[in-house]
Amino acid sequence: MSQTSSSVEVLDTGTRWQPQDGLLLEVEDLRVEFRTRYGVAKAINGVSFDLRQGETLAILGESGSGKSVTAQAIMGILDSPPAFITGGEIRYCGSNILALPEEQRREIRGPEISMVFQDALSSLNPVFPVGWQIAEMFRKHLGMNRRDSLERAVGLMERVQIPAARQRVKAFPHQFSGGMRQRIMIAMSIALDPAVLIADEPTTALDVTVQAQIMRLLAELQDERQMGLILITHDLGVVADVADRIAVMYAGRVVEQADVHDLYRNPAHPYTKGLLDSIPRLDQKGETLDAIGGLPPNLTNIPPGCPFNPRCHYAQDICRIDPPPPLREIARHRLSACHFSELLLAHSPELAVTRTAEEVEAYLEFGPEYPVTAGELDHNQDIERGGDLQ
Ligand code: SF4
Repeated sequence: MSQTSSSVEVLDTGTRWQPQDGLLLEVEDLRVEFRTRYGVAKAINGVSFDLRQGETLAILGESGSGKSVTAQAIMGILDSPPAFITGGEIRYCGSNILALPEEQRREIRGPEISMVFQDALSSLNPVFPVGWQIAEMFRKHLGMNRRDSLERAVGLMERVQIPAARQRVKAFPHQFSGGMRQRIMIAMSIALDPAVLIADEPTTALDVTVQAQIMRLLAELQDERQMGLILITHDLGVVADVADRIAVMYAGRVVEQADVHDLYRNPAHPYTKGLLDSIPRLDQKGETLDAIGGLPPNLTNIPPGCPFNPRCHYAQDICRIDPPPPLREIARHRLSACHFSELLLAHSPELAVTRTAEEVEAYLEFGPEYPVTAGELDHNQDIERGGDLQ
């Protein structure tokens, strides 16, 4: 039986999968489509990221960007039909779990990879006491008897800070507030000490104070259990204090991935910049917010070129004509899927360190193979692209 600093002893749930060099999860070129009578909706279009032990990765984007579908694909709970995984791999501890039979996937769900859903009220069964629902995890997966499993449920309810847990173990979901119900969902999700926890918009329906409490609780649990945490949200404000890295999704693609501080300080993709610009700031009193115009694309009819081009301030002809820009490394630990990421970074004073604006413009003109340095640049060349990014 393994030990942790938690007040709830972590159970030995049998042979555990072992991460390789701390690497828990690798999602590579994942593709998911929904075949509906209105057409084929391309919900996930080549998503890649990884997750290490003890790391918090936030997946961020508007509704319909593919965040929750990605989570459901990892959990193996996509409804098929209409959803079909049409490409890519999801490797857990080095093994492609998409290739496993359903019986083995079930053994991974809960003890290895677990999930907190956004709507606690509809996720909990209204006709059973909450303690019974938590205890069921231990009865079902570990064969515990009724008394021991209930005792264990009380311990978990105390760990997620439910007041008077022993008295309330027989209460029903409707007798708890929204924040308390979400704590109960978190207790259920960590019951079997998973290595990966996916929290899908865990604070969406809660007020700001309770949001902060839930985020703090998740961060504490992640820290004490060294879980890999995937935090799915549309709210940049929610993840600033807890995430290590952020992957920003748009139209079923990751368009930017960076350490949290780099991304907040200096976004390298116009969509991320738009999301940040639309957050109200205390030091900008009286100014109108710069919201992103337009709507996310219809996934049955994604526009040609860069999918963000109809809403992008910086779009040029290349954005409308060329294939979508791939996610590529633009600086150390930074990935972005925009033709003009370097230019966006170079024109920002904090990070204008890797290339001068002239070098970036030449790079854009001649492509990534061109060995650009300031000295080699012919200043008489007619460089037209990216002027709008000044
Ligand atoms: Fe905007 Fe073009 Fe970059 Fe897409 S590739 S985000 S349209 S500048």
